[in-house]
Amino acid sequence: MKKDIKTFEKTQVKCACGNEFVVESNKKELEIEVCNQCHPFYTGVQGKTKKTGRVEKFNRKYGLK
Ligand SMILES: [Zn+2]
Repeated sequence: MKKDIKTFEKTQVKCACGNEFVVESNKKELEIEVCNQCHPFYTGVQGKTKKTGRVEKFNRKYGLK
């Protein structure tokens, strides 16, 4: 059986600092707050980013949730 279906596409990643780059992922677009361009420690520490708090604040502000 040949089941090697990996549909990785080019993902346009937009960082909060304005930097944009392309990675291979199964998502079409990706928005991040820090990248290796604006965060020197990011490459070494790939833990949880504080993204949820900001999104929640955004959603609350515009009444999306
Ligand atoms: Zn950045």
